[in-house]
Amino acid sequence: MIKFLDLHKVNDRFRNEFKAAFSKSLDASNYILGENVSKFESEFAQYCGTAYCIGTANGLDALTLILKGYIQIGKLKKGDKIIVPANTFIATILSVLHAELEPVLIEPNPYTYNLSIEHVEKALDENVKAIIMVHLYGQLADNESLMQLCKSNDLLLIEDAAQAHGAIASTENENFKSLKAGNLSHAAAFSFYPSKNLGALGDGGAVTTNDLELFEAVSLLRNYGSKEKYKNEIIGFNSRLDDLQAAFLSIKLKYLDLDNEKRRAIAKQYLEGISNPKLKLPSYDGSHNHVFYAFVMEVEDRGSFTKFLDEHKVGWLIHYPLAPHKQNAFRQFSHLKLPLTEQIQERVISLPISPVMTDEQLKTVIEVLNSY
Ligand SMILES: *Cc1c(COP(=O)(O)O)cnc(C)c1O
Repeated sequence: MIKFLDLHKVNDRFRNEFKAAFSKSLDASNYILGENVSKFESEFAQYCGTAYCIGTANGLDALTLILKGYIQIGKLKKGDKIIVPANTFIATILSVLHAELEPVLIEPNPYTYNLSIEHVEKALDENVKAIIMVHLYGQLADNESLMQLCKSNDLLLIEDAAQAHGAIASTENENFKSLKAGNLSHAAAFSFYPSKNLGALGDGGAVTTNDLELFEAVSLLRNYGSKEKYKNEIIGFNSRLDDLQAAFLSIKLKYLDLDNEKRRAIAKQYLEGISNPKLKLPSYDGSHNHVFYAFVMEVEDRGSFTKFLDEHKVGWLIHYPLAPHKQNAFRQFSHLKLPLTEQIQERVISLPISPVMTDEQLKTVIEVLNSY
């Protein structure tokens, strides 16, 4: 069986380094917001190229705290409309609702699966105050056009970078230096959920930003509204990045670029090797703007295709089987007509892709796909 994702193998590479970090943490006994959190925060800010990074408990909280932070500093207010992709993991939209803001669901570009600028432009009105772009499947959204749109309409641009750690924007504008995910907007949210390109051994998340005011607000919000113990400045939450997870993340961060390179190499071999007309392959320009959190194809008769993969012992997953506006939790959006999102949700299927996949496994998957 070729697993969709062999997490044991992914993490076993770092067993000795993890053990040393655990031992050190046990000795330091500084379990909450200890030195490992501040060390990882400065390393991750430096990696992304941002001035600040704040560790959070998970990716959903990172998104929610950005929005709550903007409310705190007066840049958003309750009821403001926030543009989000309709075709995303549910967390993007949940964060908007948790912050008591109003999500406006937008159809994707059918080739990149990311926000379509045309659809975004049509949805703008005086109540829209921010756009959340998701770098879906690890491919950067059209950040330059979205930033331009936000600048000319005085909107905030927020990144959901939960699937895009380490992706680098390609730019045709020579005055623009290459920027990484996390530094393509006013504030970005990351998740370190174990399956992500940079994954912890449990939950974790982070906010990156260059905005000092937002940094201060999110720092307070994630820790009971408190800077000094037992002194509470604002109504906060408990959403701290776990100190031990931060230590593990510092170890894995050193290998992130190599792991992303491996994912891109696998994707390129899939794109070259798969020649089955029944399978629509993802569009990829060969640059570093994609870190292939997922390799997502489209197939019309998905039910029989997944059966075939099961018979041939090839793991697969669907990102995502039911669009957010079709979920029971989101009945308030069930009237929306989002045909592109619905078609994508019915056809997509993700293949195994990970830094520990062997050449042998890759060859087998390609052979199986071509024999379908
Ligand atoms: C994983 C993910 C999140 C949420 O992260 P958690 O750490 O699971 O809360 C948010 N947005 C996207 C696009 C994700 O893939």
